[in-house]
Amino acid sequence: MRPVVKGPAPQPEYKPYGDALDDLAAQLGLFCSYCEQPITHAPEIEHVQPKSLEAGLEFSWENFLLGCKSCNTVKGNTPVDVTLVGFPDMDNTFRGLDFHSDGKISIKMGLEEDQTELMSATVRLIKLHRHPSEPAAQDRPTRRDKRAELRRDVWEVATYVLGRYQADGTIADLIAEHLAPAKGFFSVWMTVFADHPEMLNRFIDAFPGTARDCFNEDGQSQARPGGRL
Ligand SMILES: [Zn+2]
Repeated sequence: MRPVVKGPAPQPEYKPYGDALDDLAAQLGLFCSYCEQPITHAPEIEHVQPKSLEAGLEFSWENFLLGCKSCNTVKGNTPVDVTLVGFPDMDNTFRGLDFHSDGKISIKMGLEEDQTELMSATVRLIKLHRHPSEPAAQDRPTRRDKRAELRRDVWEVATYVLGRYQADGTIADLIAEHLAPAKGFFSVWMTVFADHPEMLNRFIDAFPGTARDCFNEDGQSQARPGGRL
């Protein structure tokens, strides 16, 4: 999950909250803050604290992220205690998850116990673990939830393009500045190109609003200053 910086609120409140869409898109790019898919139509304001439960936060920049239909629907009105859940604007959520070639997501091994709990809560809240191969029905995507399939498809594209890049370094710009942002799924690109620091840094720069301080100069993730992981 791409760690992001929203920056200070561009205006004191957004009433109606939908007025914040353009400012959020400018700051973060049109990607779902949770599953990382590009939002090609109908972006939705994601209220971290459900607007139905926390009326005071309905119009507040601090409570906004960008959500796709699937993540927004899954999360719904679930009450959120932000002290118990990892969030991409507070933590280095990239550091907490592993992405796999079949489209699965898992909690990264070797985290501290409280960090594992934070990321587990994030995955549960958004149901990011859903995958067609899961044995239990509740762990499989609904018909409209294509997040795992999209992740797997982008993994395949990224793997193919990695091979091309290794043969021809001149396509770096094409990949980092055009293809990856068009396809979305920042974490997939960062994982597939993990052995190529020069590309990692390009991806970090190419996806708007990525939290630069979550990565070192080689593009490797590091603890977020002020974050919990
Ligand atoms: Zn999403």
